[in-house]
Amino acid sequence: MLSSLSITEAHEQLKKKQISSRELVQSCIDRIESIDKSLNAVIFRNFERALAEAKKIDDQGVSDHPLSGIPYLAKDIFCEAGIPTSACSNILRTKDYKPPFDSTTTARLKAAGAMSIGKTNTDEFTMGASTETSCYGPTRNPWDITRVAGGSSGGSAAGVAADECLFALGTDTGGSIRQPAGFCNVTGLRTTYGRTSRYGVMSMASSLDTIGPIAKNIEDLAIILQTIAGKDPLDGTTGDIPVPDYRASLKKDMKGMRVGIPKEYFIEGMNAEVEEAVRSAAKVFQNLGATLHDISLPHTKYATPCYYVLCPSEVSSNMARYDGIRFGHQIENPKDLLDHYIRVRSEGFGSEVKRRIMIGTYALSAGYYDAYYRQAQRVRTLILQDCTEAFQKVDVIIAPVSPTPAFKVGAHEGDPVAMYLEDIFLDPQVMAGIPALSLPGGFSRPQAGVPALPIGLQIMGAQWGEEIVLHAGYAYEQATEWHKKKPRL
Ligand code: GLN
Repeated sequence: MLSSLSITEAHEQLKKKQISSRELVQSCIDRIESIDKSLNAVIFRNFERALAEAKKIDDQGVSDHPLSGIPYLAKDIFCEAGIPTSACSNILRTKDYKPPFDSTTTARLKAAGAMSIGKTNTDEFTMGASTETSCYGPTRNPWDITRVAGGSSGGSAAGVAADECLFALGTDTGGSIRQPAGFCNVTGLRTTYGRTSRYGVMSMASSLDTIGPIAKNIEDLAIILQTIAGKDPLDGTTGDIPVPDYRASLKKDMKGMRVGIPKEYFIEGMNAEVEEAVRSAAKVFQNLGATLHDISLPHTKYATPCYYVLCPSEVSSNMARYDGIRFGHQIENPKDLLDHYIRVRSEGFGSEVKRRIMIGTYALSAGYYDAYYRQAQRVRTLILQDCTEAFQKVDVIIAPVSPTPAFKVGAHEGDPVAMYLEDIFLDPQVMAGIPALSLPGGFSRPQAGVPALPIGLQIMGAQWGEEIVLHAGYAYEQATEWHKKKPRL
């Protein structure tokens, strides 16, 4: 099946004219049509346009850019001109919102010759850790369809794992690329805040949102990052920092690389198989010539509480634009303007979005601002300082992605705090704005009625350090076989 190729494999075959871009796109379409009913990863299909673009590329001949003629899926918050984009929320879905412009990321991919074949499922406005808050219903995990694919980029991770595309785009505000990648046995990268442009991507929390790729291996991640990274005049928060040649650095020697193991990530009562996976990853690094260092990141445990003050605060502000005046959900015969706002937003938003708007409005209110928002910002600085100090002693830090493998659909229903705690290993990097990679790091042992489930490994680096994070990830990937395992569907 062509859709199971990696980007580098597909590029080679396209260049040699062994396959055409049209055939590649068609293979993804066939795969989506045959299996997506059971996964619900793809919520909008853009097949005709993708086939037309592929034909154009075939007629011109693929370029030397490794993404020329390569089909991908985009999370349903990336704007593409004229393509329905809903953030999987009824507030945009009911009126079939079509953005009039392209996000910088999809525009850069298009310029390289890649084509978007559809939109993937996400938690509503990316708020969640399971893709269950989507107005389209949950995405199922390709390894066990009674379980979640993770979230919020669950559709993107499941789509890549199930070979519905060659790669996908996700966003990571509080773990939404890394956690689903870990649950589905694919690789995903959260970039340094400001490394990739947020322009044209619907915001959740603007000081935390990052854009990144989900792919089948590390080399593919490097290719995509190379294409989408860098200063964007349309997003003032992107850094004017040179973008290194990520692919060229992958094969460097691991000798002497200092790998940190933070004691705060190995907490009492943690899942034994998750702990074992990270400990054996450390040994893999040691065998590759790296040195291991026990380190401490003392403020780690405050990251998730801080995140759930800062994120809802920014959510409450960002969601204000969905008022049903210029676009989005409409209601009949409002009594007055206030009635219009109340009914549009009550009907349009789901309960997790409403919960965050309320928490955020409370945390930002005059009487509580100092106690919550300002305090959380201060603690955020302490978490960043932990990282700055740690990265003077080590080059990368390894940790688990999630406390357990993928949980059952509905497992956290009615318990938002249990869902928030899924992020405990994913929020410190967000507070510090550092890059972090999630890659296949092992499997749980199968038990009665529970198949072997993927376990993710996390590798973090200092700010703007994607190059070394990918280099370490590549070395680990070459030394292990986990990423080669595919779900049976
Ligand atoms: N689970 C986190 C949340 O619900 C992460 C979301 C995200 O990264 N988009 O906020």
